[in-house]
Amino acid sequence: MSILTAKYFHDEQAAYDYVEAHVWPTGRVCPHCGEVDNSGALKGNSTRMGLYKCYGCRKPFTVKIGTIFESSHVKMHLWLQAIFLMASSKKGISANQLHRTLGVTLKTAWFMEHRIREAMKPSSKVPMGSSGGAVEADETFFGRKTGMTAKAAYHHKMKVLTLIDRESKQSRSIVLDRLTAETIQPILRENIAPEARLMTDEAAHYRKIGREFASHEVVNHGVHEYARGDVTTNRAESFFSVFKRGMKGTYQHCDEKHLNRYLAEFDFRYNNRSALGVDDATRAANALKGISGKRLKYRTAH
Ligand SMILES: [Zn+2]
Repeated sequence: MSILTAKYFHDEQAAYDYVEAHVWPTGRVCPHCGEVDNSGALKGNSTRMGLYKCYGCRKPFTVKIGTIFESSHVKMHLWLQAIFLMASSKKGISANQLHRTLGVTLKTAWFMEHRIREAMKPSSKVPMGSSGGAVEADETFFGRKTGMTAKAAYHHKMKVLTLIDRESKQSRSIVLDRLTAETIQPILRENIAPEARLMTDEAAHYRKIGREFASHEVVNHGVHEYARGDVTTNRAESFFSVFKRGMKGTYQHCDEKHLNRYLAEFDFRYNNRSALGVDDATRAANALKGISGKRLKYRTAH
């Protein structure tokens, strides 16, 4: 039975109740003045769904303020459907598919997807491998930058660096403007602990930075060596394989300025994958946890 049978996917009041319970687990908080109210004294206004008036600052507010739903006119239950569909579709769901499934315009579906990707972005960036575990680092080329012809050389392709922490089994993907030692080094310093065992292929851009970690072990892809003992970047390779299949099969066109959001989506699903015991409903609930503080600065409201 589909989880989409839950009441909050179809009933607007139930959807608001569900989102409020997630955003305000210990009671309503006024987003204007921070007044905390646990007593339920703030009165709901029957003329507008989910509208409250703060007793502290007298201003009205809803649960949408400060979240990805702010200034959106899309019904809350449709937002919850969209989050569930994006969280549970292995290769993502295209804006066109979402538009047809939810009955919103294509443009609205596109905006919704980008907002949901913001919610999927991780809130903290703890360095990987801090307890001495292995961290794989690998990069891939993908598509091509906007405005480039099919004949464009490799430096016109979009470049992605992905790190996999073997202990936490989590991925972290970063868009690279250029692929050089100079661009890779600060990213590895910021995201990998010095205690970590770094694992890469033989690419020259890892050589110098590799000395800053407990060890730097290399597989030589040039001679078709993909694993030596536990030294491998196979997990990063499988991440790229899912990412590329999704980008090719589902999203097709991706502007480089949005690539980091698509990566957040694929990282999110990888980090909440069923192999880690996360089911579809839990994955959607985890995406909902990220809706606060992620409001996009789009001028157009949808
Ligand atoms: Zn207030």
